[in-house]
Amino acid sequence: MGGWVWEERELLKLMGWGSKTKEGSVTEPAKTKVDMEKLVSLCRRRGFIFPSSEIYGGLSSCWDYGPLGVELKRNIKDAWWRAMVQQRDDMVGLDSSILMHPQVWQASGHVEGFSDPLVECKGCHLRWRSDELEGDRCPECGGELTEPKLFNLMFKTFIGAVEDEASVVYLRPETAQGMFVNFENILNTTRKRLPFGIAQTGKSFRNEVTTGNFIFRSREFEQMEIEYFVKPGTDKQWFDYWVEERLNWYVSLGIKRENLKLRPHAKEELAHYARACSDVNYLFPMGWAELEGIANRGDFDLVQHAASSGKGLSYYDEEAKEHIVPYIIEPSAGVDRTFLALLCDAYDEDEAEGEKRVLLHLHPDLAPIKAAVLPLSRKEPLASFAKEIYADLRQQWMVGYDDAQSIGRRYRRQDEIGTPFCVTADFESLEDKQVTIRERDNLRQIRVPIDSLKATLRAKLGGEDLFVLPEGGKVWKE
Ligand code: ATP
Repeated sequence: MGGWVWEERELLKLMGWGSKTKEGSVTEPAKTKVDMEKLVSLCRRRGFIFPSSEIYGGLSSCWDYGPLGVELKRNIKDAWWRAMVQQRDDMVGLDSSILMHPQVWQASGHVEGFSDPLVECKGCHLRWRSDELEGDRCPECGGELTEPKLFNLMFKTFIGAVEDEASVVYLRPETAQGMFVNFENILNTTRKRLPFGIAQTGKSFRNEVTTGNFIFRSREFEQMEIEYFVKPGTDKQWFDYWVEERLNWYVSLGIKRENLKLRPHAKEELAHYARACSDVNYLFPMGWAELEGIANRGDFDLVQHAASSGKGLSYYDEEAKEHIVPYIIEPSAGVDRTFLALLCDAYDEDEAEGEKRVLLHLHPDLAPIKAAVLPLSRKEPLASFAKEIYADLRQQWMVGYDDAQSIGRRYRRQDEIGTPFCVTADFESLEDKQVTIRERDNLRQIRVPIDSLKATLRAKLGGEDLFVLPEGGKVWKE
């Protein structure tokens, strides 16, 4: 097929599949049963993820989240926000700008040091990160490589009409700096006492030398970061706390514990400012790789920004009656990598109602569509009856409606996108005012009065015992 329709091999090329780059923290070959190609194909086919600017041939390592992808992504960020901000009294949120004063990146060390060593093959001209290569030849063609050159990963642009050195600004490569430079604003406006944290989600940009493995490493991505300020001396205990807390968050979203692993960094691996660091790794199809990094950054950031801005970024400790510079614990997660890990973990193939099916066992909080209304027939008055249910449920949740093809096909379509519940209206429903709820994971069906449909779905979506029947309800099929 020509035109804008993507051929599989083009897609695989774009996603960097089969790229010979070595992921920093990949330590063992994958043992997962998930096939990345199947996952990519599902994402494309069902509208989770498309290559960016696809009609122009795509833009390497940039991705667009489609109608279902955008829902899943929002749900991930909402789940993070709920657990990390809403349900805690020691955390506040922030949404700082992507463009910041250029001095921020001088003080943070990014202008000087946020770079990768780049080598180019003299034969095929492919570029590689020399610290990720195993030998001293090109992994693609075996050609000779140039000497490594440091390549800064920050995207540069200009602010205002004049494109000169004085107007250079950067697209932020992390959201963290916005939180450090707002430390005083937050302290003054919220009256938070130590320990407390600032949380934000948002886009970050890195002109990565090597990208790939689908959305695992891209040049534009989204982060969910926390800067947690603590009294020096309590930092070790808070670091341990956050490592545990963050690991548990992934488990609470339904990721299998055996697919998660902590990887403490060795001393010689630590960045110069870090006192400790531990990664939460996930067993992706290409191997164990970083999902999130948790670092004890000491007082590095506040000291740097205080010196560079001339503002005293400190905290008055009322007990000790002195100004102190808090230490910072930073749990830094990627939305896109969490998205990929969730899909890998949720992907399954089994047999249902006598047919093979693909399904996503997504946690109900994360599923893009919470329930789908399926009328057994398109005929009136059943169609209007079902549409009324659909309109009502939609006030509360993202709900789908599907009346095309056989009911079996429609169930399959919902299973494949992870919809936890299907609500089926049949001709009997017109008489007894009851509908059938079918569950994605165990295929059980219950019949409930329409009056209690919302309450039943609410309980089920909230994880309550899935088989407590409302009054008047009955088990239809087990
Ligand atoms: P890596 O070693 O994989 O490049 P990193 O250690 O540079 O990651 P951090 O700077 O600690 O990453 O960023 C925190 C989180 O942001 C990462 O754990 C990851 O989830 C996400 N992240 C970083 N770079 C990218 C990228 N290029 N594409 C997608 N997500 C990213």
